[in-house]
Amino acid sequence: MATAGKVIKCKAAVAWEFNQPLVIEEVEVAPPQEKEIRIKIVATGVCQSDLYFLLKCMNKAMFPAVLGHEAAGIVESVGPGVTEYQPGDKVIPLFMPQCRECRFCKSPKTNVCVNGIVARFDEKEFEASRISCKGRKLLQLAGTSTFSEYTVVKEIAVAKIDAAAPLDKVCLIGCAICTGYGAAVNAAKRSALESCVQGWGVSVIVGWTTLQNISAPPVQLLTGRTWKGTLFGGFKGKDGVSGMVKAYLDKKLMVDEFITHNMTLDQINEAVELMKHGQCIRTVLSVCSQ
Ligand code: ZN
Ligand code: ZN
Repeated sequence: MATAGKVIKCKAAVAWEFNQPLVIEEVEVAPPQEKEIRIKIVATGVCQSDLYFLLKCMNKAMFPAVLGHEAAGIVESVGPGVTEYQPGDKVIPLFMPQCRECRFCKSPKTNVCVNGIVARFDEKEFEASRISCKGRKLLQLAGTSTFSEYTVVKEIAVAKIDAAAPLDKVCLIGCAICTGYGAAVNAAKRSALESCVQGWGVSVIVGWTTLQNISAPPVQLLTGRTWKGTLFGGFKGKDGVSGMVKAYLDKKLMVDEFITHNMTLDQINEAVELMKHGQCIRTVLSVCSQ
């Protein structure tokens, strides 16, 4: 590849400030370092969690940032030590990495990887970013930053998918489909604690928030209900995503039905508005052509 080892100048939607529209900017994406992969993003979904960080989170320390965590693309180049992927592979970036080596990854009881979500929004996290604009590092939120034509992610945060997969559809498997389907199938079938059956019902908290604490009358738990949370529907990142893409290709999983709007990266603020007002299920933005 002609671009391997070089800085790539490309377009990205930059979140400069809390609660402000995203700005399409020219950014510089550094080459991947040790155990990292640079990906050309072909399509990305816009998720409620992106809106949460942009409009509700109130943590000003995370800006400027590049949001986006539900995408599909093609490996452009790989850094030293990467053995699992090569340029041209179709992949889905993971906000829930799977290192396969930590005690959590080795346990079937959880999909949370020790080397996963950091979200400290400190200097170190900005320093680790491979995306910059106007001389400033942009925080790679969730380690993915898919609202960009190119991004760099860790090798443990990428799932290789079938070469036949249509990237403008399977991008949703990177968040929405696994989160929703998995919460129902892997974890439980109810969402409100009081609505699940006394004795053995399981209530599962889905989605992302840190804004408020949650509480419940103790009697609801004392009578045998279980209350738990799940990220990414309980799926282990790499295995779950590859498997779900295969299920989609085998026509065992619906994905297309959730896509209500198709737009381009330039129209990202329109997509945000649609979601804010509940006027879409999912908008897929086309980012780079294949
Ligand atoms: Zn999401
Ligand atoms: Zn792990």
